[in-house]
Amino acid sequence: MTNIRIKYGRQEVTQDDIAAVVQVLNSELLTQGPVVPAFEKALCDYTGSNHSIAVNSATSALHIACMALDLGPGDTLWTCPNTFVASSNCAIYCGAMVDFVDMDPKTYNMDIKQLESKLKKAKINNNLPKVLVPVHLSGQSCQMQEIHELSKEYGFKIIEDASHAIGGSYMHSKVGSCQFSDITVFSFHPVKIITTGEGGAALTNNSDLANKLVKLRSHGITADQAEMDIRPEDEIWNYQQVCLGYNYRMTDIAAALGLSQLKRVDLIIKKRNEIASRYNQELADLPLSTPWQHPDTLSSYHLYIIQLNLNKIKKTQPEIYDELRNSGILVNLHYIPVYRQPFYESMGFEAGYCPESEAYHQRALSIPMYSSLSLDDQNYVIETLKKVII
Ligand SMILES: *Cc1c(COP(=O)(O)O)cnc(C)c1O
Repeated sequence: MTNIRIKYGRQEVTQDDIAAVVQVLNSELLTQGPVVPAFEKALCDYTGSNHSIAVNSATSALHIACMALDLGPGDTLWTCPNTFVASSNCAIYCGAMVDFVDMDPKTYNMDIKQLESKLKKAKINNNLPKVLVPVHLSGQSCQMQEIHELSKEYGFKIIEDASHAIGGSYMHSKVGSCQFSDITVFSFHPVKIITTGEGGAALTNNSDLANKLVKLRSHGITADQAEMDIRPEDEIWNYQQVCLGYNYRMTDIAAALGLSQLKRVDLIIKKRNEIASRYNQELADLPLSTPWQHPDTLSSYHLYIIQLNLNKIKKTQPEIYDELRNSGILVNLHYIPVYRQPFYESMGFEAGYCPESEAYHQRALSIPMYSSLSLDDQNYVIETLKKVII
């Protein structure tokens, strides 16, 4: 056992970040003040999207994104099994059903060919999805142009789960531009690229959707006279509830942290890409594959996932996992296919449903990747991998 503890991911908080948060704490408004709108504007400026709605988590953003697109009972949402459970739970929150499209083992993202053939079958069987949630795993964008073409042919809506991917690009646009989707969702959980503590955002270019998202974030309430039902003049109506919403608001405290972090997101992505290229070089001779990059994408490298070539290794994946952890390298696994979770198995999904995702998760490991990972720590990771993976 060792005292070294290098996690697979962690936040980077600077003195400037702390000062920005303290400034809000000393101000009049801790929530619903000026900083959330400033953070939202900065997200729009950065990504090129027209609207951005900051909320208290990406999970909340996914929920209200599904609601804004009218997902409900009788509808189906499709996503990839190789993701965090929130990408599919949002369908269940809305009383809709969920189904899964298997992954491409090269990109770790949804396989476009499998998507196309599943859509063809669904059209014949009259059970096409209403919403598709492509997940930009580890920060590399899915092939959004192809997915967008398919959405026109088969009539589904698109929510990009870009929880891993702020700062990444696809075909020279920033992820979040919503060029090929209805809504894009970011997460600002501390393990992700930039953080607000807990937090997330939904971005869109559609002003009707933006309007719905704003109401859904805050109890379904509006203070806009034009949206209010006119009542007798001797009653005071400052606001009206016009639909069912939630309290998913972000605080100004959190937004101040996010706004401060967003200023250096490009630097963070640059550092993450440098760490990735060093791993690519140093691990090239080991019996594993390093993450392949599609030429249309620039990854934000939320995760650095290796796939073990188990035919050439004398150990099992769990043995390697344990040995690395015992050496202080807190590797992780992203992800066990969502439908293998007991909750989803209780809905009828069975092992074997998406063979590529199942085979992948038995060879994948996420090794440490974060912008403040020191050269010494990265060297320790590389040297330990060389010793353990034999
Ligand atoms: C982290 C994550 C989420 C949920 O983000 P929260 O902000 O923690 O709610 C959703 N989808 C994916 C792919 C994630 O990695």
